[in-house]
Amino acid sequence: MNFKVYNTLTRKKEELIPVEEGKVGLYTCGPTVYNYAHIGNLRTYVFEDILKKSLNYLGYDVNHVMNITDVGHLQSDGDEGEDKMALGASREKKTVWEIAKFYEEAFLRDCEKLNIERPSIICRATEHIQDMIDFIKDLEEKGYTYIANGNVYFSIDKFEDYNKLAGLTLEELEAGSRIEVDPHKKNPLDFVLWFTNSKFTNQIMQWESPWGKGFPGWHIECSAMSVKYLGDRIDIHCGGVDHIPVHHTNEIAQSEASLGHKWVNYWMHGEFLVLNKGKMSKSSGDFLTLTRLVEEGFDPLDYRYFCLQSRYRKQLLFSFESLEEAQKALKKLKGKVSSIIKDESIEGEIRAEKVENYKEKFSTQIGDDLNLPNAFTVLEEVIKDGDLNGREKAYLIEDFDKVFSLDLMKEEVVESHIDNSWIKELIKDRNKARREKNWGRADEIRNALLQKGIELLDSKEGTTWKLK
Ligand code: AMP
Ligand code: ZN
Repeated sequence: MNFKVYNTLTRKKEELIPVEEGKVGLYTCGPTVYNYAHIGNLRTYVFEDILKKSLNYLGYDVNHVMNITDVGHLQSDGDEGEDKMALGASREKKTVWEIAKFYEEAFLRDCEKLNIERPSIICRATEHIQDMIDFIKDLEEKGYTYIANGNVYFSIDKFEDYNKLAGLTLEELEAGSRIEVDPHKKNPLDFVLWFTNSKFTNQIMQWESPWGKGFPGWHIECSAMSVKYLGDRIDIHCGGVDHIPVHHTNEIAQSEASLGHKWVNYWMHGEFLVLNKGKMSKSSGDFLTLTRLVEEGFDPLDYRYFCLQSRYRKQLLFSFESLEEAQKALKKLKGKVSSIIKDESIEGEIRAEKVENYKEKFSTQIGDDLNLPNAFTVLEEVIKDGDLNGREKAYLIEDFDKVFSLDLMKEEVVESHIDNSWIKELIKDRNKARREKNWGRADEIRNALLQKGIELLDSKEGTTWKLK
């Protein structure tokens, strides 16, 4: 049980030493549910899932908590711009509560399709308002806050080492994160803990508080909920790299100010998925969803496999061509696995020393700050090893797949030699026709398939097919 983690806080690879032996308290920042998750967001959740499963594989008992941001996140990660939930509501002419419910469910469905395991606890910000108020009251009693224009601010000057996570100077932090400076802030890097009516008069989500009716700032939810569910010393906290300079920096400031000691021991950050033209962002509206990939003929697990081929700390460039490469490679891998499963020698004895040797090799790779590309090399070695019998191979593949979660052993994988790529191609053409509102062509494809006994099923999640 040896896990080396690159810690953003120390900028070094370190050995994981949990607060409580054998147990890991893991907090991962969850989605802001005002739109679908884009595949960049999903890359981060795949990374966190691999982290949890690797820790489980290495014998740790992981308590994983993830929040759902359904209030308080403004357009910029600082305190500028409009409320993202309200933007979603006005875009779709729904209530903020409907928006939150709809996109939370859509997010969880995407995760399920990607074989991302549910966290032990999922906590919504709107259901923890009192915990946040208590947290802010405590900060107020300890002298870390001030009130201006009706809002409660955290004063970063009172907190030593505010910039320790990002490793930037205060000037650099300031330059990187602000669009416009709120004139009520004493220091431009101060942030809001509680907004009152003064921010948005038409804010629908509002609660009574000692400072007036209003709503929490974004950062406070993660501090309040993580301490509530994981205690005041957390082993690992994750998110995407964009969270380093603002969100996580502010989380540390308010949590450590309140607790009076170090709060998170290891910070792990997933690098971005990027497009040729730059970063993918939810707010620009120019983003790819998992459903879109399915419409283009990909299985969600092709995308999972694509993510696993690179290290989580490296940027990953997305293109449909490279996703297609990943799809082919996964298909090939599954083909090899299915021939092993069908092989007669699957009847052989499992020799402990043989499989332990490979399990150890695999553990070393995932334990090396999640070296997934090397972990796949170990899998390939297993497949090729003439010294292993079929049963040993099948055992090891199933064992490694506890981490990969690519359904390598699933029944339909054995069937994968049935080529259905032509159906997927037609679904892709039909989706293109529908996007272009060419309903005639879309119906033509549907009917042509029906004649061959194949029925198309359309849902919000995309199009699937079944035999009639
Ligand atoms: P949000 O719902 O915007 O709060 O983002 C959810 C998660 O996705 C956070 O951990 C972000 O850091 C992460 N994220 C945002 N954009 C990307 C991207 N292009 N690639 C990878 N992760 C991202
Ligand atoms: Zn957070």
